[in-house]
Amino acid sequence: MSGKKEFTPLQAESFPKHCRICGKVYEDQMQFLTQTTPVTYAPSSIREVAQEDGSHDLYLEVFRHCGCGATLMEFFHSRRDLSEDGITRRQLFDSMVKILEETGQTRQQARAALLERLKAFREN
Ligand SMILES: [Zn+2]
Repeated sequence: MSGKKEFTPLQAESFPKHCRICGKVYEDQMQFLTQTTPVTYAPSSIREVAQEDGSHDLYLEVFRHCGCGATLMEFFHSRRDLSEDGITRRQLFDSMVKILEETGQTRQQARAALLERLKAFREN
């Protein structure tokens, strides 16, 4: 892939990802996000995870439906992006907002939820 990377999978071995039910292969995170549909009963959410060194990472927990109907889950994060100033201007933030919007939140609600989490980070 070239150009902007919207998400970094939590684990490099996350992709290619295989659906255990139908065997479909998602080569990378963009295929995973574009070739699946949102899961309404398990909304994607933001999670904070403490690291061994005491710092925190912000993860987006994403639930998606495979074409066969199976539920797939993946974590995305970008630690480096989150530690930089101006996170709100970055593509990652916009992408997170878009995914949260798919869960039924308004853009305003999604942005507020993300900003609140990011603020909590800076206070730690
Ligand atoms: Zn499947």
